[in-house]
Amino acid sequence: DTTESKRLTTAQDYASLIDKFDTFLFDCDGVIWSGPKLIPGVREVIAWLRTKGKNVLFVSNNASKSRPMYKKTFDDFGIDTTDDELFNSGFASALYLAKILNFPKDKKVYVIGMKGLEEELDAVGVAHCGGSDPAEMEYMPAKDYTSVTPDPSVGAVLCGFDAFVNYKKYSKAHTYLTKNPGCHFILTNTDATFPSGGEFYPGSGAMSAPLVYSTKMTPTVIGKPNSHMMDAILASKDFDRSRTIMVGDNLETDILFGQNSGIETLLTMTGVTNEDHLLGPKKSSTVPTYIVNSLGDFKVLVDE
Ligand code: PLP
Ligand code: CA
Repeated sequence: DTTESKRLTTAQDYASLIDKFDTFLFDCDGVIWSGPKLIPGVREVIAWLRTKGKNVLFVSNNASKSRPMYKKTFDDFGIDTTDDELFNSGFASALYLAKILNFPKDKKVYVIGMKGLEEELDAVGVAHCGGSDPAEMEYMPAKDYTSVTPDPSVGAVLCGFDAFVNYKKYSKAHTYLTKNPGCHFILTNTDATFPSGGEFYPGSGAMSAPLVYSTKMTPTVIGKPNSHMMDAILASKDFDRSRTIMVGDNLETDILFGQNSGIETLLTMTGVTNEDHLLGPKKSSTVPTYIVNSLGDFKVLVDE
């Protein structure tokens, strides 16, 4: 591929990009904030986009928080949002189960994930087990492995980010997937890592890897770069794709998501991507339309 990205460096570059688009889809971690830290200038840039009449939507692969929990994060950073602008892979997974699979009312989803993911399932009326249940956190000695048996009431395993993941959860999920006839295998997202305060930590893709390995099954993946995430957005939002841009820090999720959705893309260098991924021998085959050091760099327009 010989196509090259356009690097935005001057106020004029920033201004002409803003003019080209009406709708901005923003990834969160690595674009708006990095772990607990707001990226400098971003709050002002987003507020300014609103004064220009732009639509802003936030599209995160992080399934550990529900939309109301996300709203609180935005509030804490002083960024104005409404619930209907927030999309995450947990919400998209819940919608997929409820609307696409028509998940039966008499079945449950076994969850590897946290309260935020359970809240999204509750919001669409899909029954679940596992997840944050304290019983799942208890150590299971080897003599008890045989207590893990198939459960015909479990019709799907949904795996997302889970900071309490353990062998008991993997054993149950593995058993349901391999022994319950027709059990669906769904992953919220497969991010290898996520950024926090300049460091990188294992993402949801790393959490689901043991199950993919042990079951040898091919899961359905909901989050970016997959179209299920776009379907979840389009269920409530409508926009002209030629005037819409996806802004993200991850080539394999955000930028590929934009490309799969037929929209232009802007890569920020404040998250998981570094210059080696763009130029070095490990160069990615995914090429964004534009690159900017930080979304905060657009602040020169606000100050003009
Ligand atoms: N935070 C956690 C805990 C995650 O697991 C992930 C994705 O794996 C992310 C953040 C990435 O979210 P975003 O799409 O907003 O960058
Ligand atoms: Ca990100």
